[in-house]
Order: sequence, then C-alpha cells, then structure tokens
Amino acid sequence: MADPDASPDPPPSAGVLIDGDSHLELLGPWASPDVPPYAATAFTAAERRRIHLLHYLLRGNFVLTVAADDEDVAAFMDGSRRCLDLAAHYVRDDGALPVPDWLEATDAGIKDILRPDHPAVDDVRITVTWDQRIYARSRPRSREILVSAVTRAHLRSLNVWFWTSWNHAMRAADPKDTGKLATIRAMLRNSEGFTLPLLAFLVSVYRDIDLSRLPCPRAWDAESFRLASLWTAMQTTFVLAHEYAHVLLHGDHPLGSPRLEAEADAFAYRVLLAFDRTGFTPDGVRPALRWYFRLLAIERSVGQVINSHPVDWIQEDIQCRPLAFLHPTVGDPNAAYFDAAVGNAAMVAKHFLREAGPERIREYSKDICAEFGTLARPTHDRRAE
Ligand SMILES: [Zn+2]
Repeated sequence: MADPDASPDPPPSAGVLIDGDSHLELLGPWASPDVPPYAATAFTAAERRRIHLLHYLLRGNFVLTVAADDEDVAAFMDGSRRCLDLAAHYVRDDGALPVPDWLEATDAGIKDILRPDHPAVDDVRITVTWDQRIYARSRPRSREILVSAVTRAHLRSLNVWFWTSWNHAMRAADPKDTGKLATIRAMLRNSEGFTLPLLAFLVSVYRDIDLSRLPCPRAWDAESFRLASLWTAMQTTFVLAHEYAHVLLHGDHPLGSPRLEAEADAFAYRVLLAFDRTGFTPDGVRPALRWYFRLLAIERSVGQVINSHPVDWIQEDIQCRPLAFLHPTVGDPNAAYFDAAVGNAAMVAKHFLREAGPERIREYSKDICAEFGTLARPTHDRRAE
C-alpha cells in the first residue's frame, strides 16, 4: 500500500523562490491597474537604460529553481513582464532610485555596531548609483558612501550560480573518486559550462549589456538559495563596512595604499562578525569572502583582456585580502576544507579563461554582447556617476 505521506511531486512553490533580501518593497503597485505597459510610452535612451536596470533588480525578487517546470517558467516570465512595467512606472514618475530595504537594513546594522566607538557614524549617508558595475566607494570629505544598485543583484546571481554548480558537480562526481576534491575534479570536467555564465556577468560591467536580458541562474533548491543569500549578505556587509572604515578612520588620506586597504579590511571583518545575523560566523564568512575576492580578481583580469590592456592574472593585491582574516587556529577542519574548495572552484574559472587566451575571451565577450544585446549609452551619462 502506498504511503499517503510520500508525495512524489514537489510542492508547487518549489519551482519559484522569493528573494526576501531583494527589492520586494518596490513591488507595492504590483496589482495596480494604473501601471501602464512599458511599451505604451516613449522613453529616451537614458530612461531606457534605467528602466532595464530597474527591471533586472525587480525580476531578481523571483528565482527559478532547477526543478521549475513549464508552468513555473511561464509564471516567472509573466512576473518579469510585470516588473518591466513597474520599472517604467518608477522611472517615468520621478526617475529616482530609492535606497533599497536590504541596503537600509545593512547600513542600520553597521551603524549600530559602530556607534559606541564612532558617534560620527550617523552623519554618513548612503547614495545608490545607476552604474552598471559592482562597487561601493566612499567620499570621506562629504561623509558619503556610494553603492551601485546592481552590486547586490550581481553578487546574488553569481552566488546562486556557485551553489548550483557546486551541487551539480557533487552529483556528477565519479563515485569511484573518493578524494576530498572529487567535486572540484567534476567541475574541472565542465569548466566551460561553469565559467561562461560567470563571464556574462563579468563582461556586463565593462560593456553596455542590456541587464534586462542577462541570464537568471537557477537555484539548486531552497537550501542552496538560502546559502547563496547568506553569502550575498556577508559580501555586501563587508563591502559597506570597508567603506565605513575609509570614511571614519582615513578622512583626507588618499585611498588605495595597501596599508589603508588592509586596515579597512580588518575593520570590515570585525564588523561582519559582530553583525546581528544568523550564520555570520568565521567558518561561514571565510568561503563567502574567498569567493567574492576571487571573483573580483577574475573580473579585473577579464576587464583588462577585453579592453586590450596588459593582463595581470595574479591580481596579488586582491588575492591576498582574505589572508587578513586567517585566524590563529584553523577552526573546524571541514570548514577549512570547504573554504579551500571554494577557492579551487574559482580557480576552475580562472584556469579556463587563461587557457582560452585573450583572443578567445574577446570573442566570448562579443558573443555575450550579441546574445544579450546592448543598450546605447547617452553621451551625458558619465561612467563614474
Ligand atoms: Zn578600500
């Protein structure tokens, strides 16, 4: 007799997940009939770029899993179209990009930690920029920290992609391969499949890729999505806290010296571990930041390749940054192993790109621009703003 509790079908919600840390607050007018379709209004090139960027952020509220069926995909596509209309609605109405809830919450959490030692922390303002790059940067004189709107969305996508690839490789690993790095060996066998989706995101920060059409990496399952979201929260908290260090400690010093960067990193790690969120532990933070810094290094190398600059594949100044966090004790050996494995996974992508060589990477970049399309940049839309 069949077990009545054993359901062979996953629950209907398993195919589409909600990103609670994303931009849910902007879905307020979701059901309003007053939001006209995007196509009903003519927009300037500058407005179109903003609409497509905002659409990318809004559709990021929903994430398909690898188990999603046709119905889930159709629901996702419908939702995505609605997000495009909403994005046009926001840009047409006032054009302002509000500070998203996740950034407000992260900023408030950091300020709470820093306030006892740095009362001036409450003077620091956060500004969100429309720039299509992954960064936060500070202006100590005006006590301002700029964060690009796509920073969290890109990192979240890249983290989801890591966890899906990792789960996939664990299943694909040769059962006779009992070595600890069997998963990495499986990733190496599929290094192109792992690297090219990463490359689409990395190229998008150097070329005017239409963000509306960037791929949406699928989550392996709800648990792996939770881990990807946790990594994203750790990375964005770190990035913001690092800039707080520059504003509060470095004042008028010209930034960029290795000593000040190391100081800001150490400051940011301390904030991260004091941050009030479950999972922000040393063993949790290490691989999240390892992956982040390795991605940053690959991103910079890719930028040098596609802009035909001399390529530094080592990026020593970035690679050594996780070292600032090494504890005197190794801690849990399994966590230390996982941290090393995450570093190795990033090396799979880097190795693939180095082997491919500059010519082939430039071809990949052209293919990515052709596949996802580009949006013209208005002449007054300065890159740095
Ligand atoms: Zn810095």
